Amino acid sequence: MLFRSGREGRSLLLNCFSACRTHARTANRSHAERWNESCFQISPNSKSNCAVIETRQLTKRYGDLIAVNHIDLNLKEGDVFGFIGPNGSGKTTTMRMLATLLQPDYGEAYVCGMSIYTHPREIRRLVGFMPDFFGVYEDMTVVEYLEFFAAAYRVLPNKRRKVVEEKLELVDMAFKRDAMVNQLSRGQTQRIGLARVLLHDPQVLLLDEPASGLDPRARIEIRNLLKRLGELNKTVIVSSHILPELADVCTRVGMIEKGVLIVDGYVNEVMRKARRRIMLNIRVGADTDRAAGLLEQHDLVEGVSIGSDELLEVTLSAEVEDYSDLPTVLIEAGFKLSLFREEEVNLETAFMELTKGLVQ
Ligand code: ADP
Ligand code: MG
Repeated sequence: MLFRSGREGRSLLLNCFSACRTHARTANRSHAERWNESCFQISPNSKSNCAVIETRQLTKRYGDLIAVNHIDLNLKEGDVFGFIGPNGSGKTTTMRMLATLLQPDYGEAYVCGMSIYTHPREIRRLVGFMPDFFGVYEDMTVVEYLEFFAAAYRVLPNKRRKVVEEKLELVDMAFKRDAMVNQLSRGQTQRIGLARVLLHDPQVLLLDEPASGLDPRARIEIRNLLKRLGELNKTVIVSSHILPELADVCTRVGMIEKGVLIVDGYVNEVMRKARRRIMLNIRVGADTDRAAGLLEQHDLVEGVSIGSDELLEVTLSAEVEDYSDLPTVLIEAGFKLSLFREEEVNLETAFMELTKGLVQ
């Protein structure tokens, strides 16, 4: 059974605008109106706290295979969501459903308050979908190619040239404006692909493996672009089968395995969940053994080991968040602290911790 509403769509106005919040005003009265009530009241310059992309139990099967298995997502303006999972885990299938190119078998998905079942045309105007592989056209220059798509996206003829130039600047490809599209490098082609999906200024970007097959420099450029899109308050889903590729540009991360979303949250939340115990690195200069003994006796401390260069590696007890007493304890005992810091958990370690044993 699908979460469809018979009332959805009756009040749809055909006149669509490019801004997400404006769209929601004209959309189906049930979900979209509720969305609008709580989301449209805020000042246009501030970030909305409402879901721009929301899925409930979104599911897709291919025969016996459940490619996407009851996925719940809730993404807001400015969220850059790193959708991470190995090949075949269901990333493309999820994105194609959100782009209204594929019908789910179960569940619901809303983009800016509009259901993918009842408002696919409106959603397509709000979404820029960059597939993992897309063809480019022969015998066309970069500008001709983009102007062609600007026309397809119904950018007005007198605005096309300006829009194309703007997007070329945004993706740092203005210097290739007169090059033939089929003579660009893979990285340059990806950037033109990104310019292409930005032409109609979509609120939502679905970028399927945009960095795959790129050299390290081109990857960095794509990552910088992703950051810029978040700053422009777009909502971005960007997929990758490699976690480190996205770790530092995403505000949010989700990990999918065999169609199941096994980790989802803001980057700092994910880190906090993974870090079950705080680890401290302390250096006291001299008499490290005595410092270790002192720390071991403290209530907040679960264990102490001495690493290379006399580094004290201190594991705090579960649930301990405030360890501000510890430096005082050491200083009062006559130690000079040359280092006192919390050990950083990187996102990769966090994921390893969180996904351990969760998937058969
Ligand atoms: P990802 O993008 O994470 O690599 P996909 O969403 O492409 O994963 O695929 C998820 C699963 O669904 C895979 O097992 C894939 O083989 C299967 N699949 C994808 N598309 C089809 C299709 N059209 N018909 C049958 N199986 C499919
Ligand atoms: Mg894929």
